[in-house]
Amino acid sequence: MMKDKYIVALDQGTTSSRCIIFDRYCNIISKSQKEFKQIYPKPGWVEHNQQDILNTQIEVYKDALKTAGISPKDIAALGIANQRETVIVWDKISGRPVYNAIVWQCRRTADYMQKLKSQGFSDMIFSKTGLVMDAYFSASKIKWILDNVSGARAAANRGELLAGTVDTYLMWCLSGNQIFATDYTNASRTMLFNIHTLEWDKELCKLFDIPQNMLPQVFPSGHIMGCADKSVLGESIPIACAVGDQQGSLFGHLCINEGDIKNTYGTGCFLLLNTGKHAVKSNQRLITTLCAGLSQEPSYALEGSVFVGGAVIQWLRDGLKLLRTSCESEKYARKVNDTEGVFLVPAFTGLGAPYWDGQARGIITGLTRGTKKEHIIRAALESIAYQSLDVLNALEKDLGSKINRLNVDGGACVNDFLMQFQADIADLEVVRPNVLETTALGAAYLAGLAIGYWDSIDELKRNNEEKIFYSEMDVKRRKTLIDNWHKAIQRARG
Ligand code: ADP
Repeated sequence: MMKDKYIVALDQGTTSSRCIIFDRYCNIISKSQKEFKQIYPKPGWVEHNQQDILNTQIEVYKDALKTAGISPKDIAALGIANQRETVIVWDKISGRPVYNAIVWQCRRTADYMQKLKSQGFSDMIFSKTGLVMDAYFSASKIKWILDNVSGARAAANRGELLAGTVDTYLMWCLSGNQIFATDYTNASRTMLFNIHTLEWDKELCKLFDIPQNMLPQVFPSGHIMGCADKSVLGESIPIACAVGDQQGSLFGHLCINEGDIKNTYGTGCFLLLNTGKHAVKSNQRLITTLCAGLSQEPSYALEGSVFVGGAVIQWLRDGLKLLRTSCESEKYARKVNDTEGVFLVPAFTGLGAPYWDGQARGIITGLTRGTKKEHIIRAALESIAYQSLDVLNALEKDLGSKINRLNVDGGACVNDFLMQFQADIADLEVVRPNVLETTALGAAYLAGLAIGYWDSIDELKRNNEEKIFYSEMDVKRRKTLIDNWHKAIQRARG
């Protein structure tokens, strides 16, 4: 009976909420997506309204069910994949958030993290959490809310507030306040979780002054966390997965073996390499993070995150109004043979891996009187590939070997120009799968496996390649471009 039903994946991303419904054969039977508002209260600050997140997520759920012509009774389980690190603090009784969600991109705690760094905490934090000292991760954001919202610190000390990443908040709301949980992958991004012992770390909670009783219980990603409330989703559906979007995508690619690698081209770019049972410590300022799975036994990945990936195209569209749609960027980029020496470093919120420079800011170099809109658009697209290249090179140095094949996904990977340029500049094969909704697919796989909808990984349908991009650029040209890119990076540094 259960096998006639469907698996629903909620993909709560940085710029939009999505719902995708999969059948037994891992086919998408319907999907719905809604963008929501980005709030920029000050330069470098980024927030979301929790109600927007929740409302859009419920709307797309209802919409996807309607399109598929199915009812909540037809759903076997629901899995959540979510933007990571973003934090929400809310009142346990009223459910009311005490402040907007502080988004992973937000830099408001950069100075504080710099201070901790100068006080010598980096090694302790890196060895426990696998993370480098940066405002990107959750801990300093939760601390900021407790320190800056009137009454929040006192309420937290009285045990009245809860804190969590977006998965935790969604599960709390969808279950009618019954589930207060997260998974290993989300926990591993908070800077409060020891990725070796798989526990919240007392010393770190103390350092960031966050009462540990505010934090949720932590489970494997594929796990029955509880059930949705009938009044919210129309039926008491098991919520059987919570997973950070990037680890969800890694699982969706079935990159479950040591050495498997993927890069996601979404708002940011996120390159993850599965390192199996080994928590590899990077010498190249990459981070160590937990992979998604169904057991208590951890597996690890090395990760490099680029803060502004596809978002640079969104900026051309919404900020500069150079584009009407993100898709148009490809057409413009192809109108010119190259950027004529223009480089754009989109360090809008600092630079992520491998630079970790919170003070860096965006820059366009090489402008001449002949520079056209097309050159700038092309330089923006190329910047996504160059930044991913820097992370790939760091990874290769850690591994001591060349990476020859890269699985890709994310909103911007539909751009053939970008994918070809990535293959060219990194001199590797870029493999784009049929189902680009890999994050949702990963959450669906995990939820379906957790409830026995699929008996084993062998039963999952592999997401085969739709297109492979091969490197065509000559060595000399590649070297010149990369050298010039690094000159531009130097000029963007803080
Ligand atoms: P997220 O899950 O982080 O919200 P998505 O994976 O949906 O993001 O990707 C959206 C991003 O991809 C946006 O920043 C958008 O500008 C970019 N994008 C979408 N389509 C294209 C395209 N054809 N070319 C380049 N960038 C694109």
